[in-house]
Amino acid sequence: MVLADLGSRLRGALSSVESGSDDEINQMIKDICSALLEADVNIKLVVRLRDNIKNKIKSEITAHDNTMNKRKKLQKIIYDELCGLVDSHEEPPKPKKLSAQKKSASTQTVTKTINGKKVKVKQNSGPSNISSYVIMFVGLQGSGKTTSCTKLAVYYKKRGYKVGLVCADTFRAGAFDQLKQNAIKASIPYYGSYLEQDPVKIAHEGVEKFKDEKFDIIIVDTSGRHRQEQQLFDEMVQISEMVTPDQTIMVMDGSIGQAAESQAKAFKDSANFGSIILTKMDGHAKGGGAISAVAATKTPIIFMGTGEHINDFEPFKPSTFISKLLG
Ligand code: GDP
Repeated sequence: MVLADLGSRLRGALSSVESGSDDEINQMIKDICSALLEADVNIKLVVRLRDNIKNKIKSEITAHDNTMNKRKKLQKIIYDELCGLVDSHEEPPKPKKLSAQKKSASTQTVTKTINGKKVKVKQNSGPSNISSYVIMFVGLQGSGKTTSCTKLAVYYKKRGYKVGLVCADTFRAGAFDQLKQNAIKASIPYYGSYLEQDPVKIAHEGVEKFKDEKFDIIIVDTSGRHRQEQQLFDEMVQISEMVTPDQTIMVMDGSIGQAAESQAKAFKDSANFGSIILTKMDGHAKGGGAISAVAATKTPIIFMGTGEHINDFEPFKPSTFISKLLG
């Protein structure tokens, strides 16, 4: 079942409660659970959600509530529980502009001992402490990694960051061309090579180049594959050790269903990503599998791709997502 249908099933379940009788409420809970299961949300999560809803209903809805109050409370309980499903309760890291880092570095106060006395001194942290923010992308081939790299670069560029793109995908023929074309269209500086076969070398050179040129954010695209997975994971670890990213983002196709959980866990073990970008949430995305992946890895979804165009990209907010789903 695709997301749009999930939304209408959930809305239908909620609006089917008229008198607020126990039977109606039980039927509503059943409908919500089966809709979530059909959207590929993991069964364990659905069972937990069902128990939470039942417990909340017991403690929050009383015999004194009239029908209207009951319905309002029910809606709030369902909304909160659905938000809980997609909310990792982790804040995604926020890149700092180099100019802002300079300011904070220059106002740092430290305690030093001078002639046996403790004094507070303001200290410049020095330019060596100021560094570009490196973001590394990981994910399977076809998930939308390369497209999302440019989308994220454009998102930050619009907010005044100086952003560079590095193509360390030497596996897929045409990957560099694709990134280059996207980057040129969006006027984002890029780095890559047609000749060099070693992705670790390219990643290192690209990141160093943009660091030297004082870029605020450097985004590194890595290769994704369907097969030879161990080799992919080894390569990812090597690139990560070389460029020491401040943030690793896993790109996940929003329509992959139940496979999402094991895929996310496998990447988490190797790449320890800190956030997720869900792609293809337009069209026929199921979304439920990805929701389960969030829960399995306790990692926040930070952005959502909603189309092939560079601007089809929006920050992911659990409450906004669920509000939209519930109409
Ligand atoms: P990669 O192999 O992971 O780098 O994947 P690509 O970035 O090449 O994307 C694979 C395909 O998915 C391309 O045809 C993209 O245009 C398409 N794509 C990427 N993101 C989205 C999205 O959010 N929505 C839709 N509909 N298509 C997307």
